[in-house]
Amino acid sequence: MSGGRAAFFKLPTGAPPSRSRTPSPVRPDRRGRLRKGTRLADAYETDPFSSIRPFESFTSSFAVQEYITALVRRDTHDVDSIITIPTGFDDDDDAPVELVDEDVWVMEHLRRITLDQHIWVAALTGACTRSTCPSMTADPDWLHVCAAHYAPPDPPCCAIDYITHASDGAQELLCSSKYFPSRMSVSEGSRRLLDAVARRLYRSFAHAFFHHQPLFVQLEAETSLVRRFTELSRRFKLMDEASMVIPEFGELEEEDIDLEDEGDEEQGERSEIRLVGENE
Ligand SMILES: [Zn+2]
Ligand SMILES: [Zn+2]
Repeated sequence: MSGGRAAFFKLPTGAPPSRSRTPSPVRPDRRGRLRKGTRLADAYETDPFSSIRPFESFTSSFAVQEYITALVRRDTHDVDSIITIPTGFDDDDDAPVELVDEDVWVMEHLRRITLDQHIWVAALTGACTRSTCPSMTADPDWLHVCAAHYAPPDPPCCAIDYITHASDGAQELLCSSKYFPSRMSVSEGSRRLLDAVARRLYRSFAHAFFHHQPLFVQLEAETSLVRRFTELSRRFKLMDEASMVIPEFGELEEEDIDLEDEGDEEQGERSEIRLVGENE
């Protein structure tokens, strides 16, 4: 490149990043809003060994959403911390009290799951097509018809369309000011909608498990999203036990995971080992 342009655009010199990296122009602040000039690496707490930031320190109108997001960024595999409602102490009460309404907690978690599920949907798009999976089956016994349309489409939505439409529909519903006008409370009728959203989202995971198992294993090892969903559902009774058809991950024996078709055997083996290790 000519010297004239180089004077304006400082090109990388090949020096190691530690020497060429200038300090962040603003003091890293992982406890509040992002300030102009903050680097991505300084923006959020991503150390899984760091202590959990107290819920009380989140003071915006979106405190619950921000608290859950911070927990997921800190360690997406620490499912128990992520789904546990934060507690605190009242002045005149010795027992800890929950600081977030249970239904609001579930609503915000489902919102977060629809976001974190995007990486699953994107990965599935490559493996799950109208020709590989012409209809939506989550387990061997049931065929599911997409509920995202006023009239059932003809032909019915194939699996990847169902998954995409269910994800879009869930986000639209959870962000609807008609059904969820407040971030502080959820009406009884809207609480039932949360159960329906959960059932539809779960089917997408079940489809991945039964039809694209190597991919499921890999994605779950990276995100622990199904474990989060399952634990959330159990703790807050979103789905009945019979509908949760994906086996417990501890029950997955290595020989049950067929990685032959993946093509990338080395990657498959690595995922398999991570999954077994994480859940023992
Ligand atoms: Zn499929
Ligand atoms: Zn559809």
